[in-house]
Amino acid sequence: MNKVKLIKAHQQALSECRLCPQMIPPVVMGQPVASEILLVGQAPGDKEGGLGRPFAWTAGKTMFKWFESIGVVEDDFRRQVYMSAVCRCFPGKNPKGGDRVPDKIEIATCSQWLNKEIELLQPKLIIPVGKLAIAQYLTVNKLVDVIGKKFELTMNGVDVEMIPLPHPSGASTWHRMSPGKELLAQALDLLAQHDSWKKLEKEILSTDERR
Ligand code: SF4
Repeated sequence: MNKVKLIKAHQQALSECRLCPQMIPPVVMGQPVASEILLVGQAPGDKEGGLGRPFAWTAGKTMFKWFESIGVVEDDFRRQVYMSAVCRCFPGKNPKGGDRVPDKIEIATCSQWLNKEIELLQPKLIIPVGKLAIAQYLTVNKLVDVIGKKFELTMNGVDVEMIPLPHPSGASTWHRMSPGKELLAQALDLLAQHDSWKKLEKEILSTDERR
């Protein structure tokens, strides 16, 4: 079976997952694309399930503006980059405000899907978005310690580079104020210089020319 078929079969099984009793379906997934870039978000919000795609609301608008600033618009990104997350279902609201943060058991349970995706995709570049996603791979006390840097690691036997981004949530001011603003610019610069990103831009260009 080719890679895309394997990814489709994986997503079919994932879409039926109901392992976490507190999580609210549907499972939210990106396109079944055989990409060497893997984006890892935290968990969908309350709008993403209905809209059927990750980062479909305000945080997504901000994140896609970041990517557009380094040459890749939202539609192209969605079409060409595999979008994953630490948890794939909406965790529900936190009675104290905002969305509930998935608990350790939910994160561990859902990691099987993400691990399978790493195995299938063999990504060269992982972009974890937000502290919860970054913390699955790196020790992170403060975002200033990891944003604006590139990391090399081996995951599930796969050598990958990782460029973390802050969460683009409107509720967070981190990425809009110094030093977050400058560190985000550094992280986007690292992305723009990365071979996988340059390859993505070339693929988009050649797809546009074929249309
Ligand atoms: S969060 Fe992940 S493991 Fe839990 S029900 Fe949703 S897809 Fe399944």
